[in-house]
Amino acid sequence: MSVLVVGSVALDSVETPFGRADDALGGSATYFAASASHHTRVQLVGVIGSDYPVDKLHDLEARGVDLSGLERAEGESFRWRGRYRHDLNSAETLETRLGVFSHFRPKIPDQFRSARYVFLGNIDPRLQLDVLEQVTKPKLVACDTMNFWIESRRDDLVRLLARVDLITLNDAEARQLSEEANLVKAAKWIMAHGPKTVVIKKGEHGAFMFHADRVFYAPAYPLEEVFDPTGAGDSFAGGFMGYLARNDDLSEASLRRAVIVGSVMGSFVVEGFSIARLLEVNGDDIARRMAEFHRLVAFDAELP
Ligand code: AMP
Repeated sequence: MSVLVVGSVALDSVETPFGRADDALGGSATYFAASASHHTRVQLVGVIGSDYPVDKLHDLEARGVDLSGLERAEGESFRWRGRYRHDLNSAETLETRLGVFSHFRPKIPDQFRSARYVFLGNIDPRLQLDVLEQVTKPKLVACDTMNFWIESRRDDLVRLLARVDLITLNDAEARQLSEEANLVKAAKWIMAHGPKTVVIKKGEHGAFMFHADRVFYAPAYPLEEVFDPTGAGDSFAGGFMGYLARNDDLSEASLRRAVIVGSVMGSFVVEGFSIARLLEVNGDDIARRMAEFHRLVAFDAELP
């Protein structure tokens, strides 16, 4: 099994209290692919401009990410500039330059169209809808989004909700989309508009998965040093979807494990800038942190 991801392939300039990076590899599809590639094969669709350092993507290819759906267009690459102050949970967007992204129409290569697992990364919801017209019978379609699109493309986003099985978004986005302050109500609002499963990420406070009438909660790994939170959400999604695609099992037990795998991958990416840590860690590191997560939440429910 493999997973198809469509999303932004960006150059990020990020400032955190611990340092800065300029024009580093970023974008929703990039983080997703780097993370998911630890679990399954990845097919990536996106666009880069003529200024993109393509050779830096070889590391992803070496990890089994198929870049044949990555279009190279004349013009400037998508660029995002953001800053985190001491509250590392919320990014302040300083600049979004769409560049070649503004004329991008995703073209799913023939060999990707039968993908069973599809992740519509954070891009214009009109493009996310476009992708769904080009794939045949996926088993699971998941999407992500952000405030930028909730504000500018709300109607398209609501149309998209009706066509996806699962959505991942952070708590502020869930509140903004649903116009509900309470997260349980926000999740119910979202589910009433389509997705059967809603994953709400809360940064250093973990993630909730709402599925049917049940809720599952995974804490975030208590890291002593968080270097740069950019990409945590997409890396979470990559681990989550990568795990599901690898095992091809959508039972509740498997979805719960997928949330933990997502949390593990998110906990790695924030330990460095860009995708550096995702390229460094190996299967043993992932297994070890899975076990630590297990210990973190294990307790005896029997009262003496
Ligand atoms: P996250 O996982 O939520 O931290 O996502 C971070 C990534 O989102 C960064 O690498 C950015 O390049 C990308 N990004 C920021 N704004 C947008 C946008 N409006 N559309 C698509 N991708 C974006």
